[in-house]
Amino acid sequence: MRKIKTVLVANRGEIAIRVFRACNELGIHTIAIFSKEDTLSLHRNKADEAYLVGRGKGPVEAYLDIEDIMRIAHEHDVDAIHPGYGFLSENAELAKRCAEEGFIFIGPRVEHLIMFGDKVNARAQAKLAEIPMIPGSDGPISSVEDVRAFGEKYGYPLLIKAVNGGGGRGMRAVNSPEEVETAYALAKSEALKAFGNDEIYLEKYLKDPKHIEVQILGDEQGEIVHLYERDCSVQRRHQKVVEMAPATFVKPELRQRICDAAVKLMKNVDYISAGTVEFLVTADDEFYFIEVNPRIQVEHTVTEAITGIDIVQSQIRIAEGYGIHSPEVGIPEQDKIGIRGEAIQCRITTEDPLNNFMPDTGKLIAYRSGGGMGIRLDAGNAFTGSVITPYYDSLLVKATTWGLNHTIAVTKMLRCLKEFRIRGVKTNIAFLENLLQHPHFINGTYTTNFLDETPELFH
Ligand code: ADP
Repeated sequence: MRKIKTVLVANRGEIAIRVFRACNELGIHTIAIFSKEDTLSLHRNKADEAYLVGRGKGPVEAYLDIEDIMRIAHEHDVDAIHPGYGFLSENAELAKRCAEEGFIFIGPRVEHLIMFGDKVNARAQAKLAEIPMIPGSDGPISSVEDVRAFGEKYGYPLLIKAVNGGGGRGMRAVNSPEEVETAYALAKSEALKAFGNDEIYLEKYLKDPKHIEVQILGDEQGEIVHLYERDCSVQRRHQKVVEMAPATFVKPELRQRICDAAVKLMKNVDYISAGTVEFLVTADDEFYFIEVNPRIQVEHTVTEAITGIDIVQSQIRIAEGYGIHSPEVGIPEQDKIGIRGEAIQCRITTEDPLNNFMPDTGKLIAYRSGGGMGIRLDAGNAFTGSVITPYYDSLLVKATTWGLNHTIAVTKMLRCLKEFRIRGVKTNIAFLENLLQHPHFINGTYTTNFLDETPELFH
């Protein structure tokens, strides 16, 4: 076993604080990095030590400065680096540098980051594992004719996706043969601009699916378990807004088959650490693989709430070499991993729902949060006096509620949202309250298009 004594978190905001908390409980010393713009950010104070990163670089580029992160790691006796989500979390280069320079990367192997960073390659892995996947092109496509041929075979609408896409970006629906030419050109140029690579591929566009994903943990001994599934169908423009665990509105037998498929894929690639296998589920109860996220996810809290398993601590122990079922990780055999009740997470953001979810900035004149039984909060810079800057993601605080069933968890969330008092910066709280009271949300009849098709929620 490799004892981890000091962890550097190559991230900011709530996820950096989440990792520091996991480390604190394990007696691990913590190091934060911060950009010049984050000089007053809370994550800096939540670590035992903190160092300025990316001097002279832009606010985002600072956190992407691998050279400088490695310098800090060398200078301060770091054993391991946790990348969080976003920023460098799926960057094979950071993991490679860690391996070369004697640091533990708290995540999967370099090969997994490469394999799943490329969506065409991920599809190839799903095919090898023989799990259901959306009809799509076998590799990147190279002409308008490729799109037309696919449309003739599978019909419209179809979806053009960027091979390196992520974060709900790099997707373009094509509704008819007439749209092909323009869509092809736009998709290619958008992919190049957003991801530095213009490779694109095709998928059949599934009508009104639910997004169901499976939390996986793997260890160096080759053991893989799933921690059940999450329902992340409530999305705005293909980005998750509310997440739940388990997927209460999907039949238990189907949920089991989805979890089994996820395990099969991750066993096949000998996956290590935390990862998520994402699927779309159609109204006729078919499910299809879409992608793997080889990292901790924003919505991991709902899985922690229903299983009682600390996923970040599990990642750290697994990185030290412990097996999933060792006393140090403490997870029982698969058939003994139980779940209880339902958990819901709302992403409270500093965005204005009345103005197309435009990010708002400024000083929080007042900040009071919800609390009490069944409520968990994971926040970055959420406190009175905090200044919300325009440089980063607009996530302010994640509220996770737990209850014995959907209705109870929803009631708790509504009560929690009502308790919030945030002044000085606009938030999406009123929108979340509308959404949680909508019959589609209450009855589970929502799909991934629910928010985009229900503009009245924004008022
Ligand atoms: P990203 O990596 O950008 O998150 P994903 O491939 O995970 O992209 O897809 C994000 C969301 O986009 C899905 O949850 C779903 O709502 C929608 N989506 C992706 N592929 C399809 C598809 N083939 N048909 C219908 N919706 C899709």
